[in-house]
Amino acid sequence: MASCPECHTEFSAPNVSTVSEIIECGDCHSELEVVGVSPLRLATAPEIEEDWGE
Ligand SMILES: [Zn+2]
Repeated sequence: MASCPECHTEFSAPNVSTVSEIIECGDCHSELEVVGVSPLRLATAPEIEEDWGE
């Protein structure tokens, strides 16, 4: 069991099995990175802003 670091919605068993995989919280739509799978741990994915310059 892991919870969204943003909204604390609990994920019981997402279809995730790979560390560094990016999933989306179904509740707050934050992108979450899988940082551990045993036990499942999630972290907010770094925001990739398409801001190349100005
Ligand atoms: Zn969330």
